[in-house]
Amino acid sequence: MRDLAADLERQATLNLYRTRNIIDGPQGPAVIIDNRRYLSFCSNDYLGLANHPKIVAALQQGAVKYGVGSGASHLISGHSRAHHQLEERLAELTGRPRSLLFSTGYMANLGVLSALARRGDIIFEDRLNHASLIDAGLLSGAQLQRYPHGDTEALMGRLAGAGKRLRFIASDGVFSMDGDLAPLPRLVDLAQQYDACLMIDDAHGFGVMGIHGRGTLEHYNYGVMEVPVLVCTLGKALGVFGAFVAGNEALIETLIQHARTYVYTTALPPAVAFATMASLELLEQESWRRKQLFNLVKQFRDGASQLGLPIRSSMTPIQPLIVGDSETALDISRTLHNQGILISAIRPPTVPEGSARLRITLSAGHTQSDIEQLLDALNKVMKERS
Ligand SMILES: *Cc1c(COP(=O)(O)O)cnc(C)c1O
Repeated sequence: MRDLAADLERQATLNLYRTRNIIDGPQGPAVIIDNRRYLSFCSNDYLGLANHPKIVAALQQGAVKYGVGSGASHLISGHSRAHHQLEERLAELTGRPRSLLFSTGYMANLGVLSALARRGDIIFEDRLNHASLIDAGLLSGAQLQRYPHGDTEALMGRLAGAGKRLRFIASDGVFSMDGDLAPLPRLVDLAQQYDACLMIDDAHGFGVMGIHGRGTLEHYNYGVMEVPVLVCTLGKALGVFGAFVAGNEALIETLIQHARTYVYTTALPPAVAFATMASLELLEQESWRRKQLFNLVKQFRDGASQLGLPIRSSMTPIQPLIVGDSETALDISRTLHNQGILISAIRPPTVPEGSARLRITLSAGHTQSDIEQLLDALNKVMKERS
């Protein structure tokens, strides 16, 4: 047996040890930890829906109607009316013939690539793709090639060198730790030119990007022809839980037959699917949430650049401050924590070596004065260190 305790100790000395906060009460712009209120800038609840009374009520209603557990996988007896209606609604919303629910985004990615790609095929992935897409590529048995972040020239060279093999390009739509968008127009061109299947994981774009919040594809105005495989999650901007894949009939039927993370797992609680419909309704009805969110993004960026904070060129609610080494990131995060502000220090291996950062995320639930408080605190802590 490996010496686990020694491994853990080493991880601690490298400032890579991870710990958890225990949150009392609901997720929101402020959370309670150890009886103290913290202004939180680290959730993915971008629209502030995770504790919306209408969605809470829908979850309760769904539980009364469908009970708690789904009881089985979708293919046995776990596929409820609520799941089915949600799939139809999500297909309609994304403008695609069909959609398929998965329990999580992680599982959706594993399911898709292992059902579509196999030994002898080749998958190209952006180096900064989410871990679940990378793992999906590895698990598929196909060859996985990672290209430098956003470097479509490098990708083109590799596509050209792939011979007659079946090719896939998989990319985050919005990069989860950097907040920048995938160079989608270029990826679409390359996929067409080199006959590759393009898959976009829009975990952080769905609900946020595009005029109606339908995601990065709406932002760029691409459909199922240009991007045949779309994965979105429901636990981030939508404030609930789960994920779905949307595409054409043959894709969805193939996943139902062959995606192991779909076939061999218990279906989501139907009440969760039911609650997600309420969330989708709010996405439509309360478009002020996206407006508020982007106003706050602008306020933060304007303020941060005035203060000379090291922000990146991100137009999304993900606004990282890259500080370099893990110790600095951890230190700043702890100092802010003492002041009642929650921002997580993201360290390797989640991000590349030397790019440890404070991953700041904004939510429509925040107010202008929350952002002012954040900027003040960041300004102070960064000045003290320089
Ligand atoms: C969060 C995330 C996932 C995983 O989704 P879960 O539903 O949390 O499992 C997948 N891809 C990206 C890009 C993500 O940010």
